[in-house]
Amino acid sequence: MIVVDGAHNEGGGQIVRTAVGLSAVTGKDVRVENIRANRPKRGLSVQHVCAVNAVAQMYSARTKGVFVGSKCIEFYPGKERATKDIKVNISTAGSVGLILQPLIIAALGRGDKINIEVEGGASFGKWAPPVTYIQRVFCRAVSAFGCDVKVEVLRQGFYPKGGCLLRAEIKTTKPRRAVIGCFEEGVKIYGESVASRSLLRRDVALRQAQSAKKMLCDAGLFKEVSIDTRYVDSVSTGSGIVLWTEGNMFLGASCVGEAGKRAEEVGEGAASEMIEGYRARACVDKYLCDQLIPFLAMRGGMIKTSEITKHTETNIWVVEKFTGVAFDVNIEDQTVSIRK
Ligand code: AMP
Repeated sequence: MIVVDGAHNEGGGQIVRTAVGLSAVTGKDVRVENIRANRPKRGLSVQHVCAVNAVAQMYSARTKGVFVGSKCIEFYPGKERATKDIKVNISTAGSVGLILQPLIIAALGRGDKINIEVEGGASFGKWAPPVTYIQRVFCRAVSAFGCDVKVEVLRQGFYPKGGCLLRAEIKTTKPRRAVIGCFEEGVKIYGESVASRSLLRRDVALRQAQSAKKMLCDAGLFKEVSIDTRYVDSVSTGSGIVLWTEGNMFLGASCVGEAGKRAEEVGEGAASEMIEGYRARACVDKYLCDQLIPFLAMRGGMIKTSEITKHTETNIWVVEKFTGVAFDVNIEDQTVSIRK
């Protein structure tokens, strides 16, 4: 059995998600100890419990210790393929983007099409990838490794009640090595600014979009900026904005609205993150970099980012335990590659 110390380096939920996803793909049993030791509320939260149980459904895995607050779990993937229709119900505003993460890793071990439905949770939340980011940045990037993921949001969810409704389809195609390292000058920036319908009278989605656009245009770095504005029905009131590049560049940036934060600050928060990544001549933003580590290990290749974060270092550490693959991290060039 592989034993993973959940207190290592970043010491967050990512260690659990990656360990369980890779346990499923490789068929290796795992125990994760000291779960989320570096987070204020240690142990599994509802969102982690939902994610682990969903991967268990996909692989008819046996589990131990999977409950809210648990600091140690064991995951024993089954030998037979289990269901291809996964349903997740989450009662809190836990991140739906983070629930999808281990499921997409786990799907690398299945050739068939997996259907996922998530009911509940937040599509926009703090310290997590918004679902629009998953659609526009993460899914495009994993398709370069031969993993096709389609995500459809039927209802957005915001803090504190969540209430998102989402469907996803995952199908792995021919394994592909991906090299994402060719920086392009003067790209176009796309965006989506979303707010609950009740925020229409304060023009929240429009103000987020306008402030982001102004900051991006003033930077004088981009060919064009095009940000859509949408008002949506949701259980809790909320807002957020996601920006992204297309083509061979996978830069994403986002910001979530919160009480007391002006819509302009939300737009500028996302825009400044995009400018920072672009000025560093990255092809993959610093969040995507850590999220692609399992795909690099399983498929091979190289990525160039803006910052090697603790999340990236930690994910490399977890992935090396399961795959035996060795990574090369070049701090000067901010590249991560698989040693041949
Ligand atoms: P953890 O803190 O260990 O639960 O991991 C958080 C995960 O969410 C990591 O994979 C981060 O890359 C990802 N993440 C956090 N904030 C963002 C963001 N603003 N955009 C995209 N991904 C994010």
